Amino acid sequence: MGLLDGKIALVFGVANKDSIGWGIAKRLHQEGATILLSYAAEALEKRVRPLAAEVDCDFIELCDVGSDEQLDAVFDKVKERYGRIDVLVHSVAFAPREDLGGRFLDVSREGLKIAVDISAYSLIAMCKRAEPLMPPGSTVMSMTYHAAERVMPKYNAMAVAKAALEIITKYLAADLGPKGIRVNAISAGPIKTLAAMGVPGIRTMLRFNEKTSPLRGNVSQDDVGKTAVYLASDWSTGVTGEIIYVDCGYNILGLTATEEDIAQF
Ligand code: NAD
Repeated sequence: MGLLDGKIALVFGVANKDSIGWGIAKRLHQEGATILLSYAAEALEKRVRPLAAEVDCDFIELCDVGSDEQLDAVFDKVKERYGRIDVLVHSVAFAPREDLGGRFLDVSREGLKIAVDISAYSLIAMCKRAEPLMPPGSTVMSMTYHAAERVMPKYNAMAVAKAALEIITKYLAADLGPKGIRVNAISAGPIKTLAAMGVPGIRTMLRFNEKTSPLRGNVSQDDVGKTAVYLASDWSTGVTGEIIYVDCGYNILGLTATEEDIAQF
């Protein structure tokens, strides 16, 4: 018996075996959910298909979340084949490379539009299409980062997109709550993935998090996957509109210096 037996889970954002979305898909599958995958671009298909096979998934659909037509097509196919969605996972983000790093003042108008559209608005676009398919008790979750609340080096356009994603999460929770649909976000600590490698200085962030976080470590895709199971299951029926940190406790710190730094004062 799994916590998610009989549930249909649609996961956006698996690019490869390092993706957080893949860590989530594996754990949801382990708890009994039927996994449906959507990926961003044709070039990724050869990596996603073998992963899909590992979780007995034969619903694998291409979708650029910036395209209303492609989103319509995916949700229509889910409706036709399964008739419902119990768990919707948004694990998608993109910002042009020039708008990550450098001075925040230099973020471009176009870059910010793209980052917010792909990384944040897309959650609204997905929920609009999912709502008619989601029964009471179903859940939506997205992936955010602490740069939405505190200034992090180089995160620039993506920080604005994550701030948008977090407030979108709360508004959607208020909108969909009366229908019994819960909407939450997981705020993960830094993890080495394709998207993270696009942020300059990510290796330093990983080392710093490891040295200073209360748990003295970095989280893994699997740590996020386990929290995703909690959010997808009946163990979180009273939880909506929340930003749940899975970051070894880094976000609670007021003073984020290493022990070596502190010893020098
Ligand atoms: P990843 O590169 O594996 O996943 C990002 C996904 O977004 C990829 O599958 C990519 O194909 C998809 N994507 C990008 N543009 C898209 C588009 N137009 N249409 C559809 N899909 C598109 O990296 P990840 O770190 O697993 O990122 C997943 C989520 O987790 C993102 O929202 C990211 O911001 C968030 N997050 C990551 C970290 C980290 O340190 N890795 C920390 C906190 C939050």
